Amino acid sequence: MSFSITAQLNKLKKTIPDQVKLVAVSKTKPVEDILEAYKAGQRHFGENKAQEMETKHEQLPTDIVWHFIGHLQTNKVKYIAAYISLIEAVDSLKLLKEINKQAAKNERIIPCLLQFHIAEEDTKFGLDQDEAAALLESEAFKKMKNIQIVGVMGMATFTEDMDQVRREFKHLKTIFDWLKSKYFVVDDSFREISMGMSSDYQVAIEEGATIVRIGSLIFGERNYPTTH
Ligand SMILES: *Cc1c(COP(=O)(O)O)cnc(C)c1O
Repeated sequence: MSFSITAQLNKLKKTIPDQVKLVAVSKTKPVEDILEAYKAGQRHFGENKAQEMETKHEQLPTDIVWHFIGHLQTNKVKYIAAYISLIEAVDSLKLLKEINKQAAKNERIIPCLLQFHIAEEDTKFGLDQDEAAALLESEAFKKMKNIQIVGVMGMATFTEDMDQVRREFKHLKTIFDWLKSKYFVVDDSFREISMGMSSDYQVAIEEGATIVRIGSLIFGERNYPTTH
């Protein structure tokens, strides 16, 4: 039997509770694949390259909800600012400033997640708690009118050790609870925890994910490895 995106998506959806948002990660996949998932009812899609997202955005239905899930370079924000629904991986004040600036130009407010470094392995991206506190307490941040921090995002270590993955997801949930109580108590829009991919989304949901980002389980393996 040949691989069917529709069948994969339908099977996957049965394993995800209604209150958890599924982002179909379509990076490296052609627009035809996205359209097939779209016709099966999927609306949230995730990409990790601004140019690639832009090309796909131009060709696809306008009610697609786009998530930027990768490391976003400051000079690329302008390409996606008009339509991006959620920038998931904000890891510096510098990036947030640029998002705020481009959002203002487009007369909108862009929702963002703060990315945290939760993996025990060494990765380049993501804030720690001190850095997040410094960002949120800065005068520059307080003046921003065109961004809204709606939650946190993290990536677990790439490992088959699910105990380790679970520990890392628990850590992100702890960070979320801390931020919520310290900075966002009265802000109902601060409520998202984006964690979990094809190999570990079930653990992520058990540990409190509100958004899961799933690619290969829906679209099949990618043809070339991606960096993360
Ligand atoms: C590629 C990617 C995913 C999806 O990975 P799969 O293992 O294919 O489900 C999720 N999150 C981020 C940040 C990614 O870069």
